[in-house]
Amino acid sequence: MTPSIYDSVKSVKGVGKATADQLEALGISTIHDFVMTFPYRHEDFRLKDLSETPHNERVTIEGRIESEPTVLFLGKNRSRLQVRLLADRHLVKAVFFNQHYLKDRLSPGMIVTITGKWDRGRQVINVSNFKEGPKTAQADFEPVYSLKGVMHQKTFRRFMRNALDAAAGQHVETLPPDVREAYRLPGIAEALEMIHFPKSPGDVKQARRRFVYEELLLFQLKMLGMKKARKEAEKGTPVEYDLAKLKSFIASLPFELTGAQKRVVNELCAELKSPIRMNRLLQGDVGSGKTVVAAIALYAAITAGFQGALMAPTEILAEQHATSLAEWLEPHGVSVAFLAGSTKGKARKSLLEKLESGEIDLLIGTHALIQPDVVFKNPGLVITDEQHRFGVEQRRILRDKGMNPDVLFMTATPIPRTLSITAFGEMDVSILDELPAGRKKIETHWLKEESLLPVLRKMENELRAGRQAYVICPLIEESDKLDVQNAVDVHGQLSTHFRGKYTVGLMHGRLHADEKDAIMREFSDGKIDVLVSTTVVEVGVNVPNATFMLIYDATRFGLAQLHQLRGRVGRGAEQSYCVLLADPKTEDGKERMQTMTETNDGFVLAEKDLELRGAGDFFGKKQSGMPEFKVADPVHDYRALETARKDAEKLLESPHFWTDPEYAGLKLQLEESGALSLERLD
Ligand code: ADP
Ligand code: MG
Repeated sequence: MTPSIYDSVKSVKGVGKATADQLEALGISTIHDFVMTFPYRHEDFRLKDLSETPHNERVTIEGRIESEPTVLFLGKNRSRLQVRLLADRHLVKAVFFNQHYLKDRLSPGMIVTITGKWDRGRQVINVSNFKEGPKTAQADFEPVYSLKGVMHQKTFRRFMRNALDAAAGQHVETLPPDVREAYRLPGIAEALEMIHFPKSPGDVKQARRRFVYEELLLFQLKMLGMKKARKEAEKGTPVEYDLAKLKSFIASLPFELTGAQKRVVNELCAELKSPIRMNRLLQGDVGSGKTVVAAIALYAAITAGFQGALMAPTEILAEQHATSLAEWLEPHGVSVAFLAGSTKGKARKSLLEKLESGEIDLLIGTHALIQPDVVFKNPGLVITDEQHRFGVEQRRILRDKGMNPDVLFMTATPIPRTLSITAFGEMDVSILDELPAGRKKIETHWLKEESLLPVLRKMENELRAGRQAYVICPLIEESDKLDVQNAVDVHGQLSTHFRGKYTVGLMHGRLHADEKDAIMREFSDGKIDVLVSTTVVEVGVNVPNATFMLIYDATRFGLAQLHQLRGRVGRGAEQSYCVLLADPKTEDGKERMQTMTETNDGFVLAEKDLELRGAGDFFGKKQSGMPEFKVADPVHDYRALETARKDAEKLLESPHFWTDPEYAGLKLQLEESGALSLERLD
């Protein structure tokens, strides 16, 4: 009887208990698991002409040995075996490291096939693969699997052959015929054959195209399916806000809203009013004015008789928000309260009572807001600022607080579209892509750390004109101590330099929340002229009088983070400056610094950051929010991603998708949902 693809690998020809255990160690239990384990690269053994092979490329050649091999011992266990070869018309040197035992197997006149890295200048091949005889016997392409030393590639391939044979005719086809035809994608059985036993690089490419598209389509169907299900099932409460009050509030603001702010306010209001529960991401570049948009949306909810909440990642930022929002909203009869970790005892108790009774309309704070004993009377809208700093769990708790409030996440790290439709694919997105009028481009310079004097002179120019400066010291994540020490040293040097003229303040993560607050307040009030700080000022802080920023060791930061930091200046009408001290060793590092000096556009920088560092680093390690893909790379495969997104939208709208048998495979896959981890999404 033929085994089922969901049977244990033990039913594959030649696989006994020992092999099954080895495969198990690689996460392979069933035949299906086995055939779905893809190679991470393919070795190309096609013969190439050396005159057309670029320097440093891997190459396979067939040649005749022309000299006696010689061995040089280079000390403990290290040796260099060398022999001359004639390949076509080229006389080259083949070098084998630490394989002196091959010496006896090589003799003049012999034909050999070797693979290795081609040093074009020195006409040397560093051999990595050697075979006696002509090339004929060897396959052109060999898949290379990630086997963690558990098994030889060759053995694995032999069992793979048997597994594919056992699975023949049993694969579930996910992609319907019309889709495969439209994109010329191979069917599942063919694609598996092509990826495990390719005959040409074209095979690998075709197979990969199929698996990438399939994976992205399934993923987008899940994302959009969730979004649709949420909109249908979780009816929120319509927020019937008072338009007249809202208009008079907007008119009372000290500035006119930008076009983008007006557009986003309209989007938010329309959604508040609808019975659909909001689950929206607001992306706005640094300084684009997200806070006031949040204030307007919160006020809308409050005029409809609901409570609002605004949560920020740091106490300083939360307090700044509280100050701004109180200033704007209290004249309109809104009662605003502030809750942080440091709010304790009686004050906390009384605040919580007022919140529960509905006496407080708007609560602003840190994640102290999501502690279990914080109970709202009737929350209508919950906003979190700098969303990507919060964990999934916190989002969930927040969302579950009270009755289905609308939820808005705000982030000042523009997220490239490829990432936003993968990491936030189940959310709606609004974009603030316009800075308030009159903002000047922050003039940015990149210097190697030779002499600081010209920089200090420049800084002093600004200070003399009554403005303020930030000096940012590197954050060394592994070592809080070093981190502080750096800032302390720089603070010492600058205090000496500016003695008697300007006040230099110091802020770092080791200070207590109230100490940090006090320093930030002094800076904000203009009592401190120069603030030396670690990256604790990174997020959101708003001191428009600060026009100069010096960033030490800028190579330590990603572009997105540098942009965030730089965004602390240039927040008023005055010309601002940013100096990056950096001596990058890599080309990427140099390109990052160069890009910073060229553009102020967060969306451009975000795309660049993604290109240079990849998706994993974009959000930072801890909570990337990015799902793990098996074959697809949403950055590299962004075109397939866009296509899959559109196709998924169409499919979900189409009645055929729900009824026609050709979509059965796709729906089955969706139901099983084993391939992707969706835990991050509640
Ligand atoms: P971010 O989007 O980085 O959070 P903020 O909300 O802190 O930006 O706004 C930056 C600064 O711009 C604040 O001082 C804010 O009061 C001001 N601002 C916001 N909107 C406008 C506007 N339409 N015109 C002028 N200034 C504005
Ligand atoms: Mg902000």
